[in-house]
Amino acid sequence: MSVLVWIEQSNSSPVGSSFEVLGKAREIAGALGTQSVAVLIGADAAAAETVRTYGADTVLTVSSPVLANYRLSAYVKALRKAVEAAGATVVLMAATVRGREVAAVLGSELDAGYAPDAVDLRVDDGKLVAVRSVYSNNILADVTFNSPVQVVSVRQRSFPMPEPGAASGEVKAVDAGLSESDVLEKLVEIKSTDTGEVSLTDASIIVSGGRGVSADPAKGFELVVQLASALGAAVGASRAAVDAGYIPYKHQVGQTGKTVKPDLYIAAGISGAIQHLAGMGGSKLIVAINKDGEAPIFEKANYGIVGDLYQVLPALTAEFKKRLGK
Ligand SMILES: Cc1cc2nc3c(=O)[nH]c(=O)nc-3n(C[C@H](O)[C@H](O)[C@H](O)COP(=O)(O)OP(=O)(O)OC[C@H]3O[C@@H](n4cnc5c(N)ncnc54)[C@H](O)[C@@H]3O)c2cc1C
Repeated sequence: MSVLVWIEQSNSSPVGSSFEVLGKAREIAGALGTQSVAVLIGADAAAAETVRTYGADTVLTVSSPVLANYRLSAYVKALRKAVEAAGATVVLMAATVRGREVAAVLGSELDAGYAPDAVDLRVDDGKLVAVRSVYSNNILADVTFNSPVQVVSVRQRSFPMPEPGAASGEVKAVDAGLSESDVLEKLVEIKSTDTGEVSLTDASIIVSGGRGVSADPAKGFELVVQLASALGAAVGASRAAVDAGYIPYKHQVGQTGKTVKPDLYIAAGISGAIQHLAGMGGSKLIVAINKDGEAPIFEKANYGIVGDLYQVLPALTAEFKKRLGK
């Protein structure tokens, strides 16, 4: 019995949200009276020393040239070997794009119960409970499991990022015995879309723009970007702004966009439709800028600024730059 966490890697470095999950996994393992195990999958085990600083009792490594780039069938096979080696009864991972599909396929192959996109975890009467946010954050559902193995993907930023400490935990290599013929997918080419922007789902601050920029969308979004860059924030948008072509879909926050949970969410020219709130309602602090004092976003906002975003955004940017010494 153990609690196993897949430490996902991007460009050969562990992703931060995996460590958020590992921090919680240690607590869950303690409550279940068992060990926490982290597993690294990739071409080599170079990141194992970094993983050791996050306090898992054991760090498993599954290394093979076949695992150099992420491919679903190969990673699920590697993870199955790790589950076997660790005797894991609870398998956790961050609910990233990869994490969600890996968890779903792994859960199905192991005949395990699967709770996707959990926002909290706890142990009641010696059993794991995964908490899921449903109906646009209006209900928190407790999910319990009847299966011997339980798989959960955890929404990014649901748990604090643990501080790394002294390296601990034994590193053990697991041989997955994988060859290219075991893998269903062939990788043809990788085209990077990395533009150096702050990722929405990992961001601690997000500045979003909506249809309120419609008087001059290019200028309006430039003002949103300027405030975001002064704050080191990611840029978000409402669906109305995306549908109007003001900004690409990857920035959309909401029911049919990304779900985010930053420490600070600044919404400019966004009315606060339920489908938008579904994606950002869990933000710790919400600031709304809207020229309509009756806009529904103000019911959700901690701070509201009634005003024209073309005046408010540059004023905020100038003030933040001054205070942050930029
Ligand atoms: C199935 C479904 C899924 C959906 N998914 C999503 C989703 O994922 N994300 C999402 O966002 N929406 C989603 N929507 C759409 C949602 O219902 C709203 O239509 C959308 O969120 C509205 O975007 P908005 O707030 O930018 O625009 P509007 O509702 O038009 O609001 C614009 C706001 O800007 C204010 N404003 C105007 N000019 C200024 C100015 N100069 N300064 C300051 N304020 C100004 C106005 O007062 C107004 O409140 C979905 C809808 C459906 C049916």
